[in-house]
Amino acid sequence: MTAREWFIRAQNEGFAIGAFNVDNFEIFKAICLAGQKKRSPVMMEFSSGEAGYFGLKNIVDLVANARKQYGIPILLNLDHAKTVEDCMEALRLRLRSGDFAVDNSSTSEVKVPHTSEVSFVGFDDIHFDGSELSYEQNVENTKRVVAAAHAKNLLVEGELDKLSGSSEVHTEQIDLEILKKSYSDPLRAAKFVAETGVDIFASVFGNIHGTFPNQPDLDIELLKKIKEALPNTFLSLHGGSGIPAEQIREAIKVGRIVKVNVNTEIRQAFKDALNEKIGENPNEYTYYKLASDIVMAVTAVVEGKIDVFGSAGKI
Ligand SMILES: [Zn+2]
Repeated sequence: MTAREWFIRAQNEGFAIGAFNVDNFEIFKAICLAGQKKRSPVMMEFSSGEAGYFGLKNIVDLVANARKQYGIPILLNLDHAKTVEDCMEALRLRLRSGDFAVDNSSTSEVKVPHTSEVSFVGFDDIHFDGSELSYEQNVENTKRVVAAAHAKNLLVEGELDKLSGSSEVHTEQIDLEILKKSYSDPLRAAKFVAETGVDIFASVFGNIHGTFPNQPDLDIELLKKIKEALPNTFLSLHGGSGIPAEQIREAIKVGRIVKVNVNTEIRQAFKDALNEKIGENPNEYTYYKLASDIVMAVTAVVEGKIDVFGSAGKI
């Protein structure tokens, strides 16, 4: 199934697919194991920093191998790409599976038909984040990414309203009045989607990157209006960390959210487990001997998210 087919199914059946950020190889393994244990599709996503660390080609190869090794659908997303060039680089790595061995340098574009019959390797979804640009520039750049992505049967996620915060454990309070000014306006969102042709819209209605001591509640009424304004567009929920499970479930139900991004809680589980293992084993110099417990700690967090998103048992 393609990413589009998975999201249609998710929308129809009322579940969301977890889009988990991959900061390192232990987290990569944990996402695979959690998906396998829960019989759930998963989306792996790489921010610019994470993609730079792994290398795009390594990411594509690792995911292609993992799809076979773990026997689960793993969708691949480029998360918050800020430039058109970064998006194009990822697009070039999407090939029909039979073409996997050919040279995929920038000079050998492979044209593929717009159909779900073809099996692909590479990215399934590109999130172009032009939220820091002017409205006009954001529309112009997003349209360029959409044209190139749709020619290769990829989905594009667009972002209009900049999501506050960063994927960290914040100790400072957030100003909720200022935050509310960044929430999505349904009519403006509908105009943006109509002008750009994006498949997924990154909606903002109380979600925020990272966790805060005064985590805001999701504005479910606003989400309802966003969905009414965008009946034919998939909605994503960024900043899935720190939001109570019942609010996430309500958002999936009311807004037909199909993709929930989670980063901070995963990084936190990894770091805490790493600190613990190193503390317990000061004389162990073989890292992989410590790594399996760290992987299991992260797996448990991902499994918990899969349960909340309702995607368990869908494969
Ligand atoms: Zn995000």
